[in-house]
Amino acid sequence: MSLDGVYDHDNIFAKILRGEIPSARVFEDDHVYAFMDAFPQSRGHTLVIPKHSQARNMLEEEPETLSHLILGVQRVARAMRSALNPDGVMVFQLNGAPTGQTVFHLHFHVIPRWEGDGPLGRHAGGAMADMAELKALAEQIAAKIS
Ligand code: AMP
Repeated sequence: MSLDGVYDHDNIFAKILRGEIPSARVFEDDHVYAFMDAFPQSRGHTLVIPKHSQARNMLEEEPETLSHLILGVQRVARAMRSALNPDGVMVFQLNGAPTGQTVFHLHFHVIPRWEGDGPLGRHAGGAMADMAELKALAEQIAAKIS
């Protein structure tokens, strides 16, 4: 899917927001929802998405919604630092299939990294992580949200 197109109400994150498929919730407020990536590129990989939005990518997003979203990203990154003690935190966001975007509901990736980690895991691939492990990690990060 290119940058042009129509929002699909049945995309996987829309289903997560409607509670139709499970997710390991880290944090939510009136504007944003954060949850563990099911195909994590490192232990603790978290996604932050707007709750009330039909933007498929950042270019389409309203400035006010984007402001809430990036503040949510910072909150998650800070909690992740406290909970998991990484040496670095990577934040990225993809716009359009040629960049590797696979889910077309705007989202930011927040990925903890440790010295000597080796290469970042494969994007959106490999085996789905164990939900119980994801929930345990989500709880650790959630406990440090301030
Ligand atoms: P992107 O490729 O930037 O659109 O990112 C989409 C992300 O969603 C990838 O990192 C996937 O691993 C992740 N993902 C796909 N399905 C699920 C799911 N059911 N629950 C949580 N994360 C998912």
